[in-house]
Amino acid sequence: MSSAYTQSMNRLIEEFEKLPGIGPKSAERLAFHVLKCRPDEAMALADAIRDVKNKTKRCEICYNFSEQATCEICSDSRRDKSLICVVEQPKDVISLEKTGTCKWIYHVLGGHIAPLEGIEPGDLTIHQLVGRVHDGNVKELIMATNPNMAGDGTALYISSLLRTTGVKITRLARGLPTGTTIEYASGKMLNDAIIGRQVLD
Ligand SMILES: [Zn+2]
Repeated sequence: MSSAYTQSMNRLIEEFEKLPGIGPKSAERLAFHVLKCRPDEAMALADAIRDVKNKTKRCEICYNFSEQATCEICSDSRRDKSLICVVEQPKDVISLEKTGTCKWIYHVLGGHIAPLEGIEPGDLTIHQLVGRVHDGNVKELIMATNPNMAGDGTALYISSLLRTTGVKITRLARGLPTGTTIEYASGKMLNDAIIGRQVLD
């Protein structure tokens, strides 16, 4: 297909179009912005993308994103290490941290169990979570998986694995509307859900 754009410009537009929420018009606008801005500004963007991919790894304790072997939350001595909040994705940690009330540490599962999508317990970090509980010193697991069928099922599955350990397992309160995910719930909603958490049995 012939195009009025140069080859490199076409390539940049194509790359922007792959980003979530970016349609063809926005992709064009962004590409023109890059073309027009100063070389050091454009390179700063390229460097930031390269850096985030090269430097980011998983915390070896909680599996959240980290640039060190252990993330900042796990390394924070003010956190109560006996409380582990279990979430599906790193984005959920960010939402919960924004409430400002969380003094616990986390465990990031990497998703939820969904056999129809081919996601089995072994694809998540459930085994590692069980290991953390068996290592001792854990008093409560707060299940903050999403309030939908997959999230509920995942929370129940994990609680069934840990039933004999005597660790208290709670679930965020049902104040979250059906279909809401932790990622998009408001701070107020999450706060109420945290305070009103109930024992899962
Ligand atoms: Zn961590």
